[in-house]
Amino acid sequence: MFRRRIQIKTAEQLELMRAAGLVVARTLAVLREAARPGVSTGELDALAEATIRSEGAVPSFKGYQGFPATICASVNDRVVHAIPSRDEVLSDGDLISIDCGAILDGWHGDSAITVPIGDVEPDLLEMLRVVEDSLWAGIAAARPDGRLTNISHAIETTIRDLGPYGIVEGYGGHGIGTEMHQEPHIHNHGRAGRGPRMTVGMAFAIEPMITWGSPEVVELDDGWTVVTLDESVAVHVEHSMAICDDGIWVLTAFDGGRERLGDLVTARQR
Ligand code: MG
Ligand code: MG
Repeated sequence: MFRRRIQIKTAEQLELMRAAGLVVARTLAVLREAARPGVSTGELDALAEATIRSEGAVPSFKGYQGFPATICASVNDRVVHAIPSRDEVLSDGDLISIDCGAILDGWHGDSAITVPIGDVEPDLLEMLRVVEDSLWAGIAAARPDGRLTNISHAIETTIRDLGPYGIVEGYGGHGIGTEMHQEPHIHNHGRAGRGPRMTVGMAFAIEPMITWGSPEVVELDDGWTVVTLDESVAVHVEHSMAICDDGIWVLTAFDGGRERLGDLVTARQR
């Protein structure tokens, strides 16, 4: 089988990716504050674009294969890739996944958060903690000389240990660098010890997504929005991260991953 090479970044190039990652982190922080009952996903989208451009960066989603917006705004049974709209107003009890990407100096950052709106059912907040735990377990499984599916396996086992959630198939993480989506694809499930060997200089976007019910999803007629078939609530989170010679660097986390990764994090964050 033909396999494209995985792009390897120098330390200097990872510094540039960090700058792009921080643009995304700051944008998502602004959106987390702004997301509340009565606000439309279209307003969040406009705020995201203004924030990214104010930093001299460019929204990477806008125009990507024809996508019309700066963020994906996936509310409740929307899993990923939902198009924001001025007609879609957030209500108390909603869960919104906001996925955002930016390009700075030719390098990409890509990250997603899921934000509870007002008073959200405790079971759903627990599901959000589970998907976040699985994201960090996946990040922690990225090591030089490890095999790629160690990440997939860590995500899946973390979720399965914590509850009977649906693990969505067919969507997942990816390499990232001078393009948003690069080799390799990273499944959110699977056996460990397979796939390419990871090395220093690789950068990945890791993005688990889980559902309250069945893992089955369908794409709507708009050609983008992915929804759960049983209309159960889904959650999705993502970070871009890099493997450095002295540890892991979470490029889209303000603290580089220090709080969640401890000693696994790169020395500059310790
Ligand atoms: Mg993303
Ligand atoms: Mg992504």
